[in-house]
Amino acid sequence: MTGPHPMQTDFQTVDQARQNILEQLVPITGTRTVAIREALDQVLAADVLSPINVPAHDNSAMDGYAFHSSTIQCASITSLKLVGTALAGKLFDGHCAPGECVRIMTGAVMPAGCDTVLIQENATVNGDVISFPPGAVSPGDNRRLAGEDLTIGKTALPAGKLLRPADLGLLASLGMAEIVVRRKLRVAFFSTGDELRSLGQALDEGCVYDSNRYTLYGMLTRLRFIEILDMGVVHDSPEALEQAMLQAMEQADVILTSGGVSVGEADFTKDVMEKLGSVNFWKIAMRPGRPMAFGQVHNAANGNSAFLFGLPGNPVAVMVTFYAFVRDALFKMASANSLPVPMVSARLAQDLRKRPGRTEYQRARLSTSNGGMPTAHLTGSQGSGILRSMSESDCLLVLEHAQGDLKAGDTVMALPFEGLV
Ligand code: AMP
Ligand code: MG
Repeated sequence: MTGPHPMQTDFQTVDQARQNILEQLVPITGTRTVAIREALDQVLAADVLSPINVPAHDNSAMDGYAFHSSTIQCASITSLKLVGTALAGKLFDGHCAPGECVRIMTGAVMPAGCDTVLIQENATVNGDVISFPPGAVSPGDNRRLAGEDLTIGKTALPAGKLLRPADLGLLASLGMAEIVVRRKLRVAFFSTGDELRSLGQALDEGCVYDSNRYTLYGMLTRLRFIEILDMGVVHDSPEALEQAMLQAMEQADVILTSGGVSVGEADFTKDVMEKLGSVNFWKIAMRPGRPMAFGQVHNAANGNSAFLFGLPGNPVAVMVTFYAFVRDALFKMASANSLPVPMVSARLAQDLRKRPGRTEYQRARLSTSNGGMPTAHLTGSQGSGILRSMSESDCLLVLEHAQGDLKAGDTVMALPFEGLV
C-alpha cells in the first residue's frame, strides 16, 4: 500500500500531521434508517430534498386584518369593510374584494385577494368598519410567503450534516418520520502499560490507575455518532498487544491506544503495529503530546482492518492529541462534514513563555467582565501528566507554531471544552 513508510520516525508540525491523517482516512459508508428522534447528533447519509413547500400557502405572520394593498391611502385614513374571519387551520373561503378586509390570526392562510396584513394594534374598529392612518402598514407586510422556509425540490439538509435539534424540527416540518443516517462509527480503545492498574485493583508499588481510558471514554461519548468499545488495559508484551489489536479489528473502524509510543519504549509496541500494517511514528512539534503513531492495521487472515492512532501515554497529552488530531479524524471517518472546534479569542492575564517552532497547548480558565473579550488565566502546573490543571481549566490556549513569548494583555486563541462535540 502507499502511505507511511514503516520503521521511520518523522518530525511533523501539527498542521502537517493533521493533513497527513485526513488524507489517508477512508470514511465509512454504511447507513441505517432511524426515527427522527434517534437521528439527533447522527450524520445525515444523503441530501434531504424538500417534498413540499413550507409553508404550503401564503399565511399571516400576525393577528390582524388581511386586505389588498391597492386600497391603502397615502394621505388619509383608509377604511375597510370587514367581511369574514380566517383562523389558523380554518380558511376564509370567500373572496376579499378591494375595499374589504378579513379578520386573520397568525398562521391562517391568506384569503384570496389579500396580500397584506394590518396588525390589530394599528387598527381602529367601529362595528364592521376597520380603519388605519397613513403609514400604519406597507404593501406585503406581515405576510409569510409559500415556500419561504423550504421550497419543494430544493435541498433542505445536506449529506454529512451532524443533525442538531433544529434539524429534527425541520425534518418534522417536512412530514418525515424517519431518516437515513450513517451507521455508528466503531471506535475501540485500550491502554498499554505494565504499570497500569484498573479501578478496583490494588495499587501495587510503582503503579498508577489507568485514567486515559476514562478521559477517552468521556471525549468519545460526547461524539454521539460513535459506538465505543473499551478493551481495558493491555500489558507491554508483543503477544498481548497483537492479540488486542486483532480483537479490536474484529469490530472497530478505528483503534485508539495510549502509551508505548515514546522513543526508547519497549520496541515491540512499534514492532507489533508495523507487523500488522503500515504505521508511521511521528514526533510532532507540539507540547504536550509529542510522540504519536498513525496508520492502518490489517488482519491478513480475515481481511479485517482499522485505522490506528497510537496516542502518547501521559494523561494530558492524550486529551490534547485527541482534540488536535483524533476528533476531526473521527468526523471524517464517520462521513460527517467537518465541524471545526469553536475557538474564541481571549486576552492573557499574565506573561507567558512560548518557544517558537512548536504548537503549545496551555490549560486555562476564561473569565468575562462587562461583556468584553474573555481573559485567560492559566490553571497551575502545565506538566503533561498533571490532570488536575486540566480538570480545573475550561479551555486550552492554542499557541501557534511560530508564536514566541507572550505578554499579559496579548490576544490568544482558546479552545473551550464546553459546547465541544
Ligand atoms: P508511555 O507513553 O507509555 O511511556 O507513558 C508515559 C507516562 O504516562 C507514564 O508515566 C505512564 O505511566 C503514564 N501513562 C501511560 N498510560 C497511562 C494511563 N492509561 N493512565 C494513566 N497514566 C498513564
Ligand atoms: Mg508505557
